[in-house]
Amino acid sequence: MSSFQQIHNKWTLKDAEDTYGIDAWGNGYFHIDKNGEVIVTPSGEKGGSKVSMMQIMQDIRERGWSLPVLLRFEGILYSRIKAINESFRKAIKEYKYTGDYRGVYPIKVNQQQQVIEELSTYGKEFHHGLEAGSKPELIAAMAFLNDPEALLICNGYKDEEFIDLGLSARKLGINCIFVIETVQEVQLILKRSEKLGIRPVLGLRMKLSSSGSGHWKESGGDRSVFGLNTYQVMQVVDDLKAENALDCLQLLHFHLGSQLPNIRDIRNAATEACRVYCGLAQEGAPMSMLDLGGGLAVDYDGSHTNSNSSCNYTLDEYARDMVEIIKGVVDEAELKHPRIITESGRATVAYYSVLLFNILEVSKFSVAGDLPEVEENSHELTSNIHYTAKSITAKNLQESFHDAIYYRDEIRTLFRHGQIGIRERATVEEIFWYTMLKIRERMGKLRQPPRDLEDLESALSDIYYGNLSVFQSIPDSWAIDQLFPLMPIHRLNEAPTRNGIIADITCDCDGKIDRFIDKTDVSPTLPLHELKDGEDYILGAFLVGAYQETLGDLHNLFGDTNVVGIRFDEDGELEYFHELEGDTVADVLEYVEYDPKDLVRRFREMAERAVKKQVISGPERKSIMALYQEGLRGYTYHEPENA
Ligand SMILES: *Cc1c(COP(=O)(O)O)cnc(C)c1O
Repeated sequence: MSSFQQIHNKWTLKDAEDTYGIDAWGNGYFHIDKNGEVIVTPSGEKGGSKVSMMQIMQDIRERGWSLPVLLRFEGILYSRIKAINESFRKAIKEYKYTGDYRGVYPIKVNQQQQVIEELSTYGKEFHHGLEAGSKPELIAAMAFLNDPEALLICNGYKDEEFIDLGLSARKLGINCIFVIETVQEVQLILKRSEKLGIRPVLGLRMKLSSSGSGHWKESGGDRSVFGLNTYQVMQVVDDLKAENALDCLQLLHFHLGSQLPNIRDIRNAATEACRVYCGLAQEGAPMSMLDLGGGLAVDYDGSHTNSNSSCNYTLDEYARDMVEIIKGVVDEAELKHPRIITESGRATVAYYSVLLFNILEVSKFSVAGDLPEVEENSHELTSNIHYTAKSITAKNLQESFHDAIYYRDEIRTLFRHGQIGIRERATVEEIFWYTMLKIRERMGKLRQPPRDLEDLESALSDIYYGNLSVFQSIPDSWAIDQLFPLMPIHRLNEAPTRNGIIADITCDCDGKIDRFIDKTDVSPTLPLHELKDGEDYILGAFLVGAYQETLGDLHNLFGDTNVVGIRFDEDGELEYFHELEGDTVADVLEYVEYDPKDLVRRFREMAERAVKKQVISGPERKSIMALYQEGLRGYTYHEPENA
């Protein structure tokens, strides 16, 4: 049901849930309460402590933070780690699997210290470890992972320093494993290990012939740029044998790509990897670990399908399928059940962060209510478009649509040639939009609207200007058209009466969101409410904890947003912690090599010249300088006016 139909009936909270699909993608963390506000239950459990997003918004504003603000819910992170570990525990029990499970969190998915710190604290209970793909990540991991039972998996290209660091970590009791990505790496690792007198534990990264679908399908499969093909795997085995080091090889790793929507692809890949694992054991390597990499998907649109923004399996199904497949293949080869490792990043942190932003203004699509009259002596084409507008019926929608576009374009050409005046052109444009509105009205009643009229919905939508930068805060929405759930966090007991798209404040034509989740398809507009005078209208972008925070760029120099961590203490009281001020204007200018002090000096000199030429007075110079310096210290986003 569209919001336009709903205003005629009584709008209920159920309608709000259906419109925004929150129960489908919220995964137990996000709901709508009876006041029509979005509430968060960080434990994801019925009866768990919960809080309204509007309450949070008011609390943090009172503490002096402006929107946009990124909220991180500690409890959600814990709940996700627990869910992943428990799914595997259950599956292992169900299948009488004799190996165990160890999760590792790939740092690159959200590298912020708060995340790594909370992960290593809450992960301890499950011996959840970390995955590092670069030197900085390894260095961060070494400082936070102090659980000898947890794993530290090192992927990526490794130089001598990387290797020395990892070997030293082993010496300190950290269970650090090097995953070999290239044939050449083996020699360097063995050389350094001999030099430092520390035996490494090695894994192989396998390039599988199976590949996944989804946005990232190129990162796995034969064409993947990472990992070893079968021939290279055997080369490494032979090299290790020659160096008397085959006993170091204990793990096989593959990573098919991220956000794998189809469980069939994952099953195929796991089966292929298992065969390789068994082959390596038969070659004499003391294999004991199978690392399934990442790829565990998040159901962003709640559709539970194999579309790119969703997945056709649950976490429990994923764990059960993996355990079942590994057991089957390994039993056949009469080998011990390996320890199962996954490197699930997205599924661990996506739910953790929510971006709140306010709407600054709305540019409404509107035309005067009635069909404009045309002058007696108008051009023939003007009379034609007028006639088209008058004679729309359910049967000629498509024809009227094309006719109106044709006449409008012809009139524009005549205008360019100076053959009709500006008033006549204005009348034609007005008639044109009137026609489009009438077509849309009638289209709403059709069961199967004509395909070429689909764009009409977005052409006739309002533009809501949001106080955010898409490039900084939800870059994947721009870069790879990924969908994120987006909705107002209040007024959900009122029917939304407008359809809008969101434009950000970067002034870039790509700085917009015009694809929204929808149960059956992608929707070009989002149902939204009319702005009320003097009242905030706050939207939330949900499930933005994975990949969005650090991929973001400084487009138009909008910097990091303010960040606030939120948790419940033992007594169930709400606690704000880890408040982090977003970038100031001076901060982002420094990123691009300006020196704020130098900027002030230059500007002061210019102001002084103006005083000298008597363009401004001394006191005016003072207040202009104060404004400039204040601006440098300020937030890069739109700040509320001083009361
Ligand atoms: C990115 C990456 C991951 C994380 O993948 P998700 O789909 O986010 O779980 C895991 N392992 C490796 C090697 C990666 O490059």
